[in-house]
Amino acid sequence: MTRNGRQYLAIPGPSVMPDRVLAAMHRASPDIYAGELPEMAPGIVRDLKALARTSQHVAIYIANGHGAWEAANANMFSREDAALALVTGRFGEGWAQYVSALGVEVTRLDFGKQGPVDPTRVAEALRADASHRIRAVVMSHVDTTTSVRNDVAAVRAAIDEAGHPALLAVDCIASLGCDVFEMDGWGVDVMVCASQKGMMTPPGLGFVWVSDRAKAACAGSGWRTPYWDWTPRIEAHEFYQYFGGTAPTHHLYGLRTALDMLLHEEGIEAVWRRHGTLARAVWAAVDAWGSGNDGIGLNVAEPEFRSHAVTTTRFAPARASELRRWVEANTGVTLGVGLGMGPPQERVSDGYLRIGHMGHVNAHMTLGVLGALEAGMQALGIAHGKGGLAAAAAVIAGA
Ligand SMILES: *Cc1c(COP(=O)(O)O)cnc(C)c1O
Repeated sequence: MTRNGRQYLAIPGPSVMPDRVLAAMHRASPDIYAGELPEMAPGIVRDLKALARTSQHVAIYIANGHGAWEAANANMFSREDAALALVTGRFGEGWAQYVSALGVEVTRLDFGKQGPVDPTRVAEALRADASHRIRAVVMSHVDTTTSVRNDVAAVRAAIDEAGHPALLAVDCIASLGCDVFEMDGWGVDVMVCASQKGMMTPPGLGFVWVSDRAKAACAGSGWRTPYWDWTPRIEAHEFYQYFGGTAPTHHLYGLRTALDMLLHEEGIEAVWRRHGTLARAVWAAVDAWGSGNDGIGLNVAEPEFRSHAVTTTRFAPARASELRRWVEANTGVTLGVGLGMGPPQERVSDGYLRIGHMGHVNAHMTLGVLGALEAGMQALGIAHGKGGLAAAAAVIAGA
């Protein structure tokens, strides 16, 4: 057995947390009325905006990603509204269900599990809505189940081309701090994220970034309730107003450190480049394993539509769960299950697994995961093309 040693959870969130983030949280309860913690808030808000590349607004919630969806929904919609949901995997469908549970009429455009949103179909659907009942277009930047990455700017262009006033609302829970994202540059109105993926902080904080346009357009939304209303959080005059009550004290210390590492030490462009290189190393290995073997392969054919944070990988027929178990038991690496890739009634698919490469991750960790997978395929007699590790190493060497 070669399992003992530091364990590595290589799933697409919660991601690896830096020891410095954990250490920053290890302290007695801080004062929430005066001193260091309240004084930290404006800087955190400023850096959250920098992370999303916006000069507009951000609201913080004590919530996971599902809570951030609910926060965005509660501000955007009234009961009589309609929404257009662009679905490229289970998380896109999940947000659509949350919207429709409010009584909002949701039209889904499903683009399957292996490719991106087609902006032409978005423009068509918006043009068909002559009375402009559609209040918002909701989509995932990256869908974490399929690892499809969508072209957000192209969706904005489609909305504009259709001459439709709908807001553009984007789920960046799996992509912020991993893939390039430009809120203002791409014309995004509402963006949601949670703390535990690219943001390298424990689960428990949800964020909603808001454009000036969305702030004005949503002022009269019928689903607003005191807790979810983003207005006081965006315009907080007192520390408690940022959180609608007691602050998430320890999370804020962790987040402060994570933002320092991402923005002020490594720099967000370098963070994006690191994720890009690690993703290409994973793709090179999987391509090599799959050459001459059609059971193994990347879920998304075109590189420009692949996530840089997670890679959904086919190990068919039905060898993925077995391989995942072997790798966990023998190497100390835990990989992500294949979620929502099979028929609708099947939550976990044995034909796929997901390799997480998001957050506080570097070359030795990703090469280690790939090496663990290669050992597992050898041990289990899973036929695979040669040279996967060498191909991954070449990507790192050439970066
Ligand atoms: C993880 C994730 C979610 C759900 O976030 P939770 O914190 O688990 O509620 C939603 N959307 C995407 C794209 C995700 O990656």
